[in-house]
Amino acid sequence: MLPRHTHDCNACEFHGYFGGYDVYTCGQGGLGSTMIARWGNDGPEYQSLPVQLYERVADTSPLWRGVKALIDINTDPDQSYVMWK
Ligand SMILES: [Zn+2]
Repeated sequence: MLPRHTHDCNACEFHGYFGGYDVYTCGQGGLGSTMIARWGNDGPEYQSLPVQLYERVADTSPLWRGVKALIDINTDPDQSYVMWK
């Protein structure tokens, strides 16, 4: 499984797709990990959210709920098989 859009950060880890977005986490920049949802090839065509701010938007953002769920599944060794079903 490969990202569908160009993403030029070598520090990012690709997790899969949610809602038409390519989903990444990035540890660059300090203060823990950032979640990234990219929808296009141009540099600015993405949204990002520090994981530590997730709880503030979880109630109002289906996008970030889905992105977080995908990342959680993909980073749980016991559930990684779900990705390949
Ligand atoms: Zn990155």
